[in-house]
Amino acid sequence: MLAALYGRVRELFAGPAPAPVPNEAALTALWLDGRADLADFDDCPREHRRTPHCGRLPSLLLLRARDTRTGLMIETHEPFGAEYVRPTQAPCPTCPCCSARLCETGRTSVMQCLGHVAVSVYADVAGCPCSAETTRGTHAWRAAQIQAVKHATESPMPIGAETILRVLAGGHAFEDPAGHLTWLHARRYATTDRESWRITMLGRRYLSALDEPRYTSAVYVKSVDLETRTATVVVIGWHMDIDVTTLADPISNSVGLPLDSLPGRYLDARVNLGAADPDDLVLTRIQLPAQITADYVSVRPIGVAR
Ligand SMILES: [Zn+2]
Ligand SMILES: [Zn+2]
Ligand SMILES: [Zn+2]
Repeated sequence: MLAALYGRVRELFAGPAPAPVPNEAALTALWLDGRADLADFDDCPREHRRTPHCGRLPSLLLLRARDTRTGLMIETHEPFGAEYVRPTQAPCPTCPCCSARLCETGRTSVMQCLGHVAVSVYADVAGCPCSAETTRGTHAWRAAQIQAVKHATESPMPIGAETILRVLAGGHAFEDPAGHLTWLHARRYATTDRESWRITMLGRRYLSALDEPRYTSAVYVKSVDLETRTATVVVIGWHMDIDVTTLADPISNSVGLPLDSLPGRYLDARVNLGAADPDDLVLTRIQLPAQITADYVSVRPIGVAR
């Protein structure tokens, strides 16, 4: 009786439920099945960490991972020994550094592949071309385009730096007494091999953003992929029938609404409507359209004096 009571009291004060029973077989099976990768070790609810990690318990290593399909956390005794060894995964067909699954994640993440691995393998995936800012169509690329266009249209750099960039674009000789190149390099608008300087694609995007006309257009949000944080929109002033892929977060941040409330909304944005490719459309100054009030008229009534 006393023992039962003691047990009950202990239950009440035990705090959070204990971790699931260590299950080596489950984790190993997941790896073999290709459902767990470095990219999948995230959101440990206990330690609030987003990286793969092991906890040292007395005399054993405990490894925590999340099953990407079920979302369930799995804990297991470290099955690989003290050193974490990357499990065999299908390699990415286009880069030498990552698994196919990692690049799939990195491509649609502004953090690139680098943002989804443990610190110990940073160096291996740091230059991954599949998710790089310089690779057209990646989330990092889209974010950089927005950044360059906002920079050019909202707070352009001093004319001296712009002149140097234009001279670089033209491939002419120049001098840089004011040291603008260092700054252009930091902005990733210019690059050097120590012998000569070149303008980057991002630098060219900055210049084209200065020159291209931008218009206000209505934008209809068709859908938002909550996992990759990508929005599919229709830029009404550009083309009614062509979907445009864009990052969802800049929209959400601009209008102050959560991602899941964006689909079905009409918004206003400044857009380079002259672009031929939907990927080259860059939306800035995104806002909710002005409220239609009682004094709104879309057509001037007959008889009203000019
Ligand atoms: Zn790759
Ligand atoms: Zn790679
Ligand atoms: Zn990669």
